[in-house]
Amino acid sequence: MSSTNAFAGSLFMVVAPSGAGKSTLVNALLAQEPTIKLSISTTTRAPRPGETHGQQYYFTSAEDFVARAKAGEFLEWAEVHGNYYGTSRLMVEEQMATGTDILLEIDWQGARQVKKQFPQAAGIFILPPSIAALEERLNKRATDEPHVITKRLLAAGGEIAHAPEFEYAIINEEFAVALSELTAIVRAARCRFAQQAARNASLFAQLGIHAE
Ligand code: GDP
Ligand code: ADP
Ligand code: 5GP
Repeated sequence: MSSTNAFAGSLFMVVAPSGAGKSTLVNALLAQEPTIKLSISTTTRAPRPGETHGQQYYFTSAEDFVARAKAGEFLEWAEVHGNYYGTSRLMVEEQMATGTDILLEIDWQGARQVKKQFPQAAGIFILPPSIAALEERLNKRATDEPHVITKRLLAAGGEIAHAPEFEYAIINEEFAVALSELTAIVRAARCRFAQQAARNASLFAQLGIHAE
């Protein structure tokens, strides 16, 4: 068995331009698959109304973020829409070691960094049905200032250009359809031979199955 397959847990990366419905889809997935653990990122972005420290993000200053990045605390980090975002290395490594499935909601730059360290990570890109729908959703969500929405819409094309780097693409037009596709990807990843063998080591041994 190769060292990259030695974990019983699966690592998922969900990436999308702002407003595609990534957080809504991920929250719905977690509600029906409670064993998946969402990595809470650290960010220098200001909290939106209703966001709480430790729930959506760990909010911090740019000084603190940079110091922690230098100390190697982040598995990956990137500047997105003028703010820093990073994933805790400790959280991911601890959870991976216990065989827990982990989901990262990160941008394409971060996904590239993670893929280098964990080639088995499943990359899922969420696409909007159109740019007009993206704009409508960001306006309807009404969590960002108009100039922030404009910045995010302008960035969307550049982000979508990286979609071909991902194994999976989901078009979030009909929410229920997109959610069932996301669920299918997660369930299929759990049935990968290496994941099943790692989770069910004693059964596989009893059945006389020896991983190559
Ligand atoms: P959203 O686009 O409405 O989800 O807005 P957010 O402010 O929550 O996220 C901004 C961007 O930062 C998105 O592309 C996220 O996927 C990305 N992001 C969030 N957390 C992380 C992280 O830990 N690392 C990286 N690299 N990107 C992140
Ligand atoms: P992201 O995390 O990608 O920025 P959100 O999950 O916050 O996006 O979704 C943006 C907005 O679009 C939210 O108000 C959400 O309720 C709405 N939304 C998500 N999926 C759909 C969909 N399939 N159809 C219509 N609106 C949607
Ligand atoms: P928002 O500010 O709307 O919460 O997030 C904007 C973007 O930042 C999203 O595309 C989101 O995926 C990305 N993002 C959030 N957390 C991280 C992270 O930890 N790392 C990286 N690379 N991107 C992140």
